[in-house]
Amino acid sequence: MSLPNKSHGRKSISASVTPRDLMGQDERLAHVWTADIITLFPDSFPGVLGQSLTGRALTEGKWALSITDLRLFGDGKHKNVDDTPAGGGAGMVLRADVVGKAIDHVLRLQKTKKPLIFLSPRGQVFNQNMANEWIQGAGVILLAGRFEGVDQRVIDHYGIQEVSLGDFVMSGGEIAAQAMIDACVRLLPGVLGNAASIEQESHQHGLLEHPQYTRPNEWNGRTIPDVLLSGNHQKIDEWRRSESEELTKTRRPDLWSAFKPR
Ligand code: SAH
Repeated sequence: MSLPNKSHGRKSISASVTPRDLMGQDERLAHVWTADIITLFPDSFPGVLGQSLTGRALTEGKWALSITDLRLFGDGKHKNVDDTPAGGGAGMVLRADVVGKAIDHVLRLQKTKKPLIFLSPRGQVFNQNMANEWIQGAGVILLAGRFEGVDQRVIDHYGIQEVSLGDFVMSGGEIAAQAMIDACVRLLPGVLGNAASIEQESHQHGLLEHPQYTRPNEWNGRTIPDVLLSGNHQKIDEWRRSESEELTKTRRPDLWSAFKPR
């Protein structure tokens, strides 16, 4: 029987890997930050995470992705994963027994405890602080829902934390998973070419980023602010800081009132 995992990154490009390696037993990747995803749509991964910085870092083994296909834990000949909601109503709900088996399987593969998260519009809204916290550990386990979501007993039984991408409803958790993983992976050491750029970014210190400009110096009659071409780095820093504060004040009063200068 083929094992219900599909892995990406250095694991999948090594000619010597056995299915056991692919399930996270590979010592070479034991210490790499790993995102475990439980999904009904394993082909959605690595998706956009396979591109550019995150994609290169994945093939270089700077992080790893381990995908568990929920369907393989389905019930009976048709591998059923969902059923109608108790009490009636629209849609279908992912079954507790099926999701439970998939979670148990993924938990058995873990060498280190990781946060277990259900992607859900009811959850706490994801932010930069969460990304900063998640990369401190060994990785994350993300359960992507579909249909109306998952049987509440699964969430209660495992003490799963619900995390949302924002106040809107998508058809499934896969895009949310990719967005959150991207935000984490780019913070891992050696992934971004220029680590200093992380320091200045929007949200990293509670402010939005200042405007950015590049060549040409004049475009459609618009010029680059003189200070940026002055070569005076102290003045440039001051200008950027003040732009950053102004933008945050006007666009995001919520962030501005929470902002505490360091
Ligand atoms: N009936 C649910 C929505 C189900 S949407 C409700 O009203 O709360 C189907 C699945 O898509 C969810 O289980 C979740 O995994 C995912 N999803 C939808 N919107 C999301 C969001 N904003 N953030 C994270 N996951 C989301």
